[in-house]
Amino acid sequence: MEKKRIIVAVDGPAGSGKSSVSREAAVALNLKYIDSGAIYRAITWFLIKEYGTVPQGKGFSGDLAGLRISQVFKKDGFCNTYVGDTDVSLEIRNETIAKNIGKVSDDPGVREYVNGLLRSWARDNSIIMDGRDIGTVVFPDADLKVYLDASVDVRAERRYNEYLESGKNVDLNSIKKQIIQRDIEDTSRPFGALKTAEDAVVIDTSLLSKEDVIRTLVDLIAPL
Ligand code: C5P
Repeated sequence: MEKKRIIVAVDGPAGSGKSSVSREAAVALNLKYIDSGAIYRAITWFLIKEYGTVPQGKGFSGDLAGLRISQVFKKDGFCNTYVGDTDVSLEIRNETIAKNIGKVSDDPGVREYVNGLLRSWARDNSIIMDGRDIGTVVFPDADLKVYLDASVDVRAERRYNEYLESGKNVDLNSIKKQIIQRDIEDTSRPFGALKTAEDAVVIDTSLLSKEDVIRTLVDLIAPL
């Protein structure tokens, strides 16, 4: 019998741990992990390269014509993100991108472009995809929808530690402010706003270890 294609949508706010647990659950279950936030980040990276900054009040869909964005899934679960032939995986994780990304992901033309890309990547594979609107907009018929949450303080500390581990010197308080700002942007955008799908399994990870969350996710997916 042919194996069923499985779509797992993992949504939640910045720093809720979506990427790391999705990636590890994907490895455990031999699914492909797709990082939708990295696509918005890559477009932001490209626009900053083109314009020096992300212009306010401009539509960007025209800038995307001919843009080649791709993600290469690796066996360790990581997926590298490319703009053309340039691997931007590391460069897209910095504060300049985080500060500018809201202007990009508010643009309905950009969202349409990204959603088309994400759906095409999932066409032939069983996948775990994380983001903000995966269970609500990109795959409203996903086999499983998970909403990961955590308190602002816990999320700020996680991001702070991530930056430290990658050798970046940052201020915890400014990370917290940035997370609060990103929550406002993510929940209030007119299209693709972050919200909990009615049929999502909600997990508050504030008091859970990463391993606990991975185990819960694997246990939810395995029977599908
Ligand atoms: O998940 P990550 O923190 O990398 O996402 C970065 C940003 O990309 C979000 O704050 C949001 O602006 C945008 N995003 C989005 N829709 C998604 C995934 C990310 O608007 N599905």
